Amino acid sequence: MKITDSVQYLKGVGPKKKAELARLGIARVYDVLTYFPRTYEDQSALTRIADLRPGTVATVAGTIVNLQEQTGRRGLTILTAYLNDGSGLLQVTWFNQKYLKNKLKVGRRVFVSGKPAYAYGGHGQFAMSQLRYFQILDEGEQAAGLCGILPVYAATERLNQKFFRTLVEEALEAADELPELIPARILAERKLMGRREALRAVHFPKDGEELKRARYRLAFSELYLIQCGLLLIKKQSQQTRLGIRHQPNGKLVAAVLSGLPFTLTHDQQQAWQEICRDMERTVPMRRLVQGDVGSGKTVIAMLALVKTVETGWQGAMMAPTEILAAQHYENLSAKLAPLGIRVGYLSGHLTPRERREMHEAIACHEVDIVIGTHALIQDDVHFARLGLVITDEQHRFGIAQRAALEKKGAHVPDVLVMTATPIPRTMTLTVYGDLDVSLIRELPPGRQPIRTFVRRPDRRPLIYQYVRSQIEAGRQAYVVCPLIEMNEESDLPSAEEVYDELRFGIFRGIPCGLVHGKLAPAEKERVMQDFYADKIKLLVSTTVIEVGVNVPNASIMVIEHAERFGLAQLHQLRGRIGRGSYASYCILVSEGKTENARERLRIMATVSDGFKLAEEDLRLRGPGQFFGSMQHGLPDLKIARVPEDIAILLEAHRAAEATLTSQGDLDFIRPILALQYKERFQHIMEN
Ligand code: ADP
Ligand code: MG
Repeated sequence: MKITDSVQYLKGVGPKKKAELARLGIARVYDVLTYFPRTYEDQSALTRIADLRPGTVATVAGTIVNLQEQTGRRGLTILTAYLNDGSGLLQVTWFNQKYLKNKLKVGRRVFVSGKPAYAYGGHGQFAMSQLRYFQILDEGEQAAGLCGILPVYAATERLNQKFFRTLVEEALEAADELPELIPARILAERKLMGRREALRAVHFPKDGEELKRARYRLAFSELYLIQCGLLLIKKQSQQTRLGIRHQPNGKLVAAVLSGLPFTLTHDQQQAWQEICRDMERTVPMRRLVQGDVGSGKTVIAMLALVKTVETGWQGAMMAPTEILAAQHYENLSAKLAPLGIRVGYLSGHLTPRERREMHEAIACHEVDIVIGTHALIQDDVHFARLGLVITDEQHRFGIAQRAALEKKGAHVPDVLVMTATPIPRTMTLTVYGDLDVSLIRELPPGRQPIRTFVRRPDRRPLIYQYVRSQIEAGRQAYVVCPLIEMNEESDLPSAEEVYDELRFGIFRGIPCGLVHGKLAPAEKERVMQDFYADKIKLLVSTTVIEVGVNVPNASIMVIEHAERFGLAQLHQLRGRIGRGSYASYCILVSEGKTENARERLRIMATVSDGFKLAEEDLRLRGPGQFFGSMQHGLPDLKIARVPEDIAILLEAHRAAEATLTSQGDLDFIRPILALQYKERFQHIMEN
């Protein structure tokens, strides 16, 4: 049987079971083999019956000394066996398992695992009815041999542990073709377990040591293949596709640089140099600029866009929200239009006519730079000469969307990806393994640290009094609320309510604005413009302002119900202030009902470095959720865990790098990648 065969060919799987399995994503034999245990039950020690404790899971081996069969209501068969292990008697009951009648015999040794309870009317004798596992030993077989580490699967009501254990055994036995995934050379060098052995051992390990080796091997091969895929993407796009060779910086770039009201920080300079070097090579650039919120990534993006224009190409920059795209457009066109650079804007909210005109302008090279939202990757957008694509806040996009933008021109454009979500450095490998990384760690000079406070809701009058005094001193303020409208099911104050409460209350006489996702685009645009222009002093909003919004004069932010936001989100929100030279304050309003919420807010109040926060976030949320929210486009990991398996990841990365230099290894890996991660790596399989 092949591992690609349907589960229905396995013993014990009829149409019903097949359907149940399908709901768990198990369709083929392969899926069974990689339905890895959720955890294990260590049964390596037998408990004497005399030492059993009610409610504590234990494993017992005893000889059947007595058997009873009863028929309950509705014809239910109840089989009861009395086991003796020399220290006491244990009653074991099976319901409705008639087939056991022939197997259970007085004198047979039985091995059972479960939770003992006092037997009804048993005078202190124990009974086990909720068996986790049992085995009837053959004559002369030793229970000790069977005791070991048992797999525990994510079972369902109808598919229990026993079913899975048997199913996996079946699959292991039936699968005669289990091709190796790792080149033999690497297996030997790293003394890794073979695939078949590892699969067997991860389900039915002899001992902890074997389990560890098996898990290592499987996690390694999983990460290794992904790393190979990512490195292949990079290599192929660099080798087989000719990129654009940008000219060295000329007058235009110089004009933009000298027009900046500041000088680049050391890190910005470094990133800019790396970008120039990449862009001036024929090999397409694939670079990630990773920098904490407020570190000044936009100016780097702008310079790169100007560079492509100076060489005679078009540049495109995609942002995840309308507000951010519009801001970038305003900012860039204000700076670049005077230099004769034509900047266009594209979003889903343009009128059909405006959109058509912009499409035409893009296709005829009547615009040099286009800033937009997802509208940029619609089918009817075609660039005449696309030389550079930038995605801002990449963590909000999928890898597929980035790739779609790259395909908008006839040539292979240079690619620049920007993200503020700092992920622990080594993690960039799994998520962005195909990109080179430029880090911007330092913030522009003159910034004052943002001071963050956690306050209870009963302090709101004082808090807002303080906000008012800041506004009267010339600053602007944000108030962030979790919900837009009043919601009957929730007692959280909505942005609308808070807006009314504030503008008719404490902030009477001060221009206030409200912005949220449900506003008409034109209205949203107007409010944001007024806020940028300092006409609105207090902006009540939902998280629509979370990414990218840049108003350096805004120096104070109140986040209502702060416990409703995750660390990463709070950090992004807080990043809206502290962008100028003013002392900035972030006040997290929360009752902090749960310990987890309190801890999160405590961390926010003490940690300001985005990289450190990311690590804390990872610790608090666990890798599943943490990466779930950002690893768009990465295949699900079945066994490897990031970051726990970071050491394995680094090994796998090294092995993958070596693989790319060996034609033999590459020939071996390619078909496997095609099979295992078809969707993820499709675009490299096409070549
Ligand atoms: P982010 O990295 O979050 O996208 P931005 O690019 O929006 O940050 O920059 C934040 C603010 O810092 C902007 O007002 C920008 O003009 C300013 N800025 C960027 N670089 C510098 C610098 N080298 N010196 C001073 N201010 C800078
Ligand atoms: Mg930005």
